[in-house]
Amino acid sequence: MSQFAILVGDRVCADPGKRHHGNLLHRGYTQGMSMRPLIFALAALLATLSAAPTRAQEPPPSLILVTIDGYRWEELFRGADPTLVVDPAYRARYVDVPDRARALTPFLLSLAQDGALIGNRDANSCARVANDFWFSYPGYAEMLAGRPNPRVRYNAAVPNDDVTVLERLARRPEFQGQVSVFAEWETMRAILNEERNGLPVFTPPDIEAPHDPQIIPAARAALADPPRVLYVALGDTDNRAHEGEYEGYLAAASDADNFLREIWEAYQTNPRTAGRTTMIVTADHGRGRAEDDRWTGHGSGRWRGMVVPGLRHAGSDAIFIAARGPNVINADAYTMENCATLGQVAGTILAALGLLGEEGQPDMASPLQVFAGE
Ligand SMILES: [Zn+2]
Repeated sequence: MSQFAILVGDRVCADPGKRHHGNLLHRGYTQGMSMRPLIFALAALLATLSAAPTRAQEPPPSLILVTIDGYRWEELFRGADPTLVVDPAYRARYVDVPDRARALTPFLLSLAQDGALIGNRDANSCARVANDFWFSYPGYAEMLAGRPNPRVRYNAAVPNDDVTVLERLARRPEFQGQVSVFAEWETMRAILNEERNGLPVFTPPDIEAPHDPQIIPAARAALADPPRVLYVALGDTDNRAHEGEYEGYLAAASDADNFLREIWEAYQTNPRTAGRTTMIVTADHGRGRAEDDRWTGHGSGRWRGMVVPGLRHAGSDAIFIAARGPNVINADAYTMENCATLGQVAGTILAALGLLGEEGQPDMASPLQVFAGE
């Protein structure tokens, strides 16, 4: 129950009606008070009482965050790269088709019409990571805290010394047991600092087997009673890409897209979350370009305190960011000259939940300009 409802409840219970008002009136007359403040007080009380049922019945907003680790904006907006697909079945399905992008991730692309989709550099829409590293831990740390963490310079599972938005939400009483995380990467426990805050993080029981097919059924089970905040971190896109398995990378992207649709539909068919849920989808980094197989990796060349030029994959700071929700409209604010950054996701999550004022931090990047009426 909200503080508001408790307050109203107390007023209702403590107010036996006539007697209470009678006392007020009596005191007013005996002390010679003007009727005007009393009328205002009564009007305010009546307004509060009549507003209370509406507020109490309106379900609170929910939030879905999905990351598709290292999924390139190039495949999202252009579809499968014909120079990289070898397997005939994959060519038939993803290359020799009228619309390659739509053949691969149709749901994610639909957010361009039914939401906001940022990062199609072919159309002068830009999103990037703001951290200097262009690999996973620095990316997730930036996304979840609202700014790069300069102390995160490699991928080791060192507990994050920043407080993520998920932790900020989880420690609010109304979010108790309502923040659920399903992550294919074990290090997400450290990024979210599970050790400090006890956030429940599900990770693959068998790290040798493909990760996403273990995460998806576990997250699917949670959809029966959708949590107010759901974070699903998928990553076989990145895992297959590092192995040079382009077809496997495409299959992982397609599976991710199918699951995105499933999550969205589950939230839209549950009366508690329908029409009150915002979904945000992004990636922790991009990848190198197709030429010379640089697409298999990513990184700026910086690692810990060093710069290793051979580790640099040009363009792997480029990402996409997508959003859909009751008040989300397409964002044309972000161009190559004014790139959106991954860190803006944190503030966007808080804004979507109406908690930017209470949980936003002075050093957090501003929410993405994707909400109508701004
Ligand atoms: Zn990677």
